[in-house]
Amino acid sequence: MRLRRAGRCVLPLLLAAVLAFLYFNGRAAEREAAAVAAIPTRTITLRHTADGTAEELPLEEALLGFLAGEMSPEDPPAALAAQAVAARSFVYARDLAAGEVCDDSAHCLAYLPEAARRERWGINFAAREAKLREAVEATADLMLLKDGAVQPAYFHAACGGMTENAADCWGGDVQTAAVPCFWEGGAGGSLSACFWPKAELAAKLGVTEAELALLEVRAASASGRVQRLSCGEKSWRGTEFRSLLGLRSTDFNWLATAEGYWFTTQGWGHGVGLCQAGAVGLAGQGCDFRQILAYYYPDFTLGSPEEGV
Ligand SMILES: [Zn+2]
Ligand SMILES: [Zn+2]
Repeated sequence: MRLRRAGRCVLPLLLAAVLAFLYFNGRAAEREAAAVAAIPTRTITLRHTADGTAEELPLEEALLGFLAGEMSPEDPPAALAAQAVAARSFVYARDLAAGEVCDDSAHCLAYLPEAARRERWGINFAAREAKLREAVEATADLMLLKDGAVQPAYFHAACGGMTENAADCWGGDVQTAAVPCFWEGGAGGSLSACFWPKAELAAKLGVTEAELALLEVRAASASGRVQRLSCGEKSWRGTEFRSLLGLRSTDFNWLATAEGYWFTTQGWGHGVGLCQAGAVGLAGQGCDFRQILAYYYPDFTLGSPEEGV
């Protein structure tokens, strides 16, 4: 008797609880759908350097390919999210300014299309793709801004201990903060060396073997990177010399031996903006993507741009 009465009381309560759950769950789903719908569908034009073709892609979808090209899906989520924001800003700003971006990492940034991701990751494709998608969705539409305008936020593999001011790297008057970086650890590898026999180096530089002894740094940036060097009558910008010899960065030095020249290089890439190896290190220390971005881009703020800005 008591049980039947209790049952009569519990049933309506249960029914009310289920209805309430369905109602609030439905509202949450509606709110989520509204939030997703609020993200503007931005598109970019991607030029494939291999065959010269171009395609128009939704920016958020293209970011999966840029992330896969620039980072490892095994990197910590906070580092991936920081790179997602930097890549979104870089791609959006460059597409606005130039009408397109390309998949040449020396010019714009690396891109790995979905077919290549499937092939490279094999049975791990679904899990790795989900990790990249999480980094993109967790930062949806967030970009790096200055005075409300989206910035082409630069990034590189490893700074080698100090990032570089954009003006010191490429000339021009775009100043970006150079910050010390202590967190590269084993990621990215900071030191590299290569050997050039005298005859080969002389031929590459267009000088005689005897003139090699005149090779000297004429100007260096505050971070210690070579900005200009000369060898007798010849002179180069640090960036030109770097690509001429295939060095990893302009933070290099050399040692002359009887047989040739050893070039030792610190870091990998131009050194401006986000240091990917440093971002991985900071994420390992528990920093989130906002903290990582605030460190490497102290002059920029995080936000969503107005349409077309
Ligand atoms: Zn390009
Ligand atoms: Zn670094």
